[in-house]
Amino acid sequence: MKNVLLLGATGSIGESVLSVIKQNNEDLNLIGISCNKNTGKAREIIAEFKSVGYVHVEDPIKYKDFCTKTDYDWRGDCTNTSSELEHLINHESIDIIVCAISGFAGMKAMYMAAYSGKKILLANKESIVAGGDLILPIARKNNTQIIPIDSEHNAIFQCLNGEKGTEDVKKVIITASGGPFLNSSISDLENVTVKQALNHPNWKMGSKITIDSATLVNKCLELIEAKYLFDLHESFFDLVIHPQSIIHSIVTYIDGSSICQMSSPDMRVPIAHALSDANRLPIDFDPLDFTSLNLSFQAFPSDRIEIENIAREVCNKGSNLGAVFNAANEVAVASFLNDEINFDKIYEVIYRTFDANDVSNDLSIDSINDIDKHTRIEAKKVVKSLIN
Ligand code: NDP
Ligand code: MG
Repeated sequence: MKNVLLLGATGSIGESVLSVIKQNNEDLNLIGISCNKNTGKAREIIAEFKSVGYVHVEDPIKYKDFCTKTDYDWRGDCTNTSSELEHLINHESIDIIVCAISGFAGMKAMYMAAYSGKKILLANKESIVAGGDLILPIARKNNTQIIPIDSEHNAIFQCLNGEKGTEDVKKVIITASGGPFLNSSISDLENVTVKQALNHPNWKMGSKITIDSATLVNKCLELIEAKYLFDLHESFFDLVIHPQSIIHSIVTYIDGSSICQMSSPDMRVPIAHALSDANRLPIDFDPLDFTSLNLSFQAFPSDRIEIENIAREVCNKGSNLGAVFNAANEVAVASFLNDEINFDKIYEVIYRTFDANDVSNDLSIDSINDIDKHTRIEAKKVVKSLIN
């Protein structure tokens, strides 16, 4: 039996993880969860999973509310401070930590978890984009195993046959659905609404990643994530549109064999793989009907080359540059979701903020936090200039 700490339990990935745990309750035991503000959902989880002994609530007001409510009979530990979170992550009873907090907000937990020497299931790509050069060496030094659950990265991980190494790899193709605006150019997208952009054809996800999928910036973040996780030069990775989201990525070897991982678009599939040990975990899944599959592929759109090039520059220069890219994107996406800027301006906010960056080579958690804060201020100035 493995004990699981699920950080970001109240989100979309959290829900998929809970489903896999529920279906494998002889092998997996949910012992702790975290959320930011959605304590209502946290209550539902602890009512369903009686094994939960720890709840970390990040938001201080919601934390107080959660701890003082007496309308339920839960008697576990409720925590809120960073040191309590660190203590929880390192608690001897926990075997697996799922990092499924959305955005740079997940960095703190991921940084702490990297030291833990435990198995981490990584959904929070933003922490790797912003701090890959810091986090990966810490994880390596502490024997912390990072298993990706982002579907493409989990696919690559499976195609690489776990940790066999990458010396025989010729190419890695990261697939992208193309999102709700497949075949539209940026110039067509000026007036799309938030509702349209949140209407992803294949995946039901949190709002931030859904907008990233609509802009295709998600694929650029994933390119950086892949570069760090698999320790390959960015030139190994091609981005290819595959609208059906059935093939989650492809690894081509030096002998000409291409190995892919396929499944219906369902995050429980990569999560079940990552939660397993030697044997696979059974889950209820939609089987593919291979006789009716109609798979297609097309080039990554040429008008996203500028954003792709930024991601490749981040891969090549590393250091704190990823934190700049990530923060600029997070501000741009939030501004679009708040109806402050049009969809097509998300790119402009990223380009202008990225061009104005001034990055230091100081690789510490404090400097990454500083770069994140500073970049957000600069990106908000760009947003303001676009509103006026
Ligand atoms: P959601 O928005 O659905 O959930 C986010 C989770 O993070 C919630 O539990 C939320 O708590 C918590 N959270 C938000 N802000 C904070 C904060 N400041 N401090 C602590 N916790 C916080 O996101 P998703 O589940 O869609 O995505 C999670 C991560 O997984 C992202 O990095 C995303 O890129 C990645 N991912 C997601 C996929 C998907 O299918 N959804 C696919 C591949 C990757 P609360 O509910 O209380 O706000
Ligand atoms: Mg993905």
